[in-house]
Amino acid sequence: MPEYKVPLREIKFVTDELLDFPAHYANLPKFADVATPDMVDAIITEGAKFCENVLAPINRTGDIEGCTRHEDGSVTTPTGFKEAYRQYVDNGWASLSSDVEYGGQGLPESLGTIVSEMVGTANWSWGMYPGLSHGAKNTLEAWGTEDQKQTYLTHLISGEWTGTMCLTEPACGSDLGILKTKAEPNADGSYAISGTKIFISAGEHDMSGNIIHVVLARLPGAPAGTKGISLFIVPKFLVSEDGTPGERNAVECGSLEHKMGIHGNSTCVMNFDGAKGWLIGPENKGLNCMFTFMNVARIGTALQGVASAEGSFQGALAYAKDRLAMRSLTGVKAPDKVADPIIVHPDVRKMLLTQKAFAEGGRALVYLTAMNADIVHNGETKKRVKQLMTCWAS
Ligand SMILES: Cc1cc2nc3c(=O)[nH]c(=O)nc-3n(C[C@H](O)[C@H](O)[C@H](O)COP(=O)(O)OP(=O)(O)OC[C@H]3O[C@@H](n4cnc5c(N)ncnc54)[C@H](O)[C@@H]3O)c2cc1C
Repeated sequence: MPEYKVPLREIKFVTDELLDFPAHYANLPKFADVATPDMVDAIITEGAKFCENVLAPINRTGDIEGCTRHEDGSVTTPTGFKEAYRQYVDNGWASLSSDVEYGGQGLPESLGTIVSEMVGTANWSWGMYPGLSHGAKNTLEAWGTEDQKQTYLTHLISGEWTGTMCLTEPACGSDLGILKTKAEPNADGSYAISGTKIFISAGEHDMSGNIIHVVLARLPGAPAGTKGISLFIVPKFLVSEDGTPGERNAVECGSLEHKMGIHGNSTCVMNFDGAKGWLIGPENKGLNCMFTFMNVARIGTALQGVASAEGSFQGALAYAKDRLAMRSLTGVKAPDKVADPIIVHPDVRKMLLTQKAFAEGGRALVYLTAMNADIVHNGETKKRVKQLMTCWAS
């Protein structure tokens, strides 16, 4: 398996020459002073080192080893995952593009997207752990009360705790209007959440001190369909008075799902058995709030395509330089070998270039979309976003 090398030249081509990130950042008051060209360069260069040297080496081994669920419902991640996460947190990667008010570094979403591309290409399974936290953070930033932000968001931003999104159930995925998980009010203002969620990425693991589940459920008497869904925060450990993880909540991993190529990510069936939860956002508007999460997830899913395209291109290129078959049409290219490497053949080159074009075109599109997120985070209106994007696109 070839080593992953971050395509720094190609990334810089998109950011500096195609989309002019320096001008984009300079135009947005929130980022003009922090996302300076030197700072952006330093982050990309250091991020590349972390991804090449720490994450890529545990990608294949992580997929072969996979996650292990134990009798008590706890889950152990593959060798090296926990240690890599510690480094990620200690070096400040978790807080890169989060709100300064809650401990973040206030850098643009698009810069975080570049780092996520490198992380994801190096090791998609591993990248899903901080990836899910990112969506939970954005949801809390947009919909959480001040108290919820202080209690949960600060720890998600620091990376001490991770997050999940719990939508899918055994009987519903695309059509969340038919979900069955229940939320019954408790006397203390919290809710008792009961039901089963499936396919929950990063649902249970050993990498962080607490896991904050963002869960869709129905209140008693809620209207049928999507208009009767509310959103709740359900922590794995209830948070004590002093802000540290305390009593274990009634939520547990029932089993692990198996997904091709990402066995290093603990994708779980999660059972909520009267677990204590707190409402985020208005009653019965849970799906709207959840779409804050889904909007991030959309950029993340698009990045998965870019990461897979880049990773497979790098693998195919290394193979084409090594594999020998026949001789070049324009004369022998490797006289010391029994045949030429297949990269000399026009049809093989065409396939490689097609792969490269998909990776680079996809990268440009995702970065352009992430620029939109920067503009929204800068507090611009939808109309202004449209104007700015039209201006850049031309
Ligand atoms: C890698 C991975 C990670 C995931 N992580 C999470 C997670 O963290 N949290 C979470 O809650 N869920 C997660 N999921 C689940 C994911 O959200 C669901 O798989 C998705 O919503 C689709 O639901 P489903 O699998 O039940 O398919 P279904 O809803 O049963 O759909 C079956 C098929 O019918 C098609 N279909 C459905 N409705 C229509 C329609 N109206 N028109 C045309 N076609 C239609 C679908 O496209 C699909 O091909 C994850 C899934 C994957 C693969």
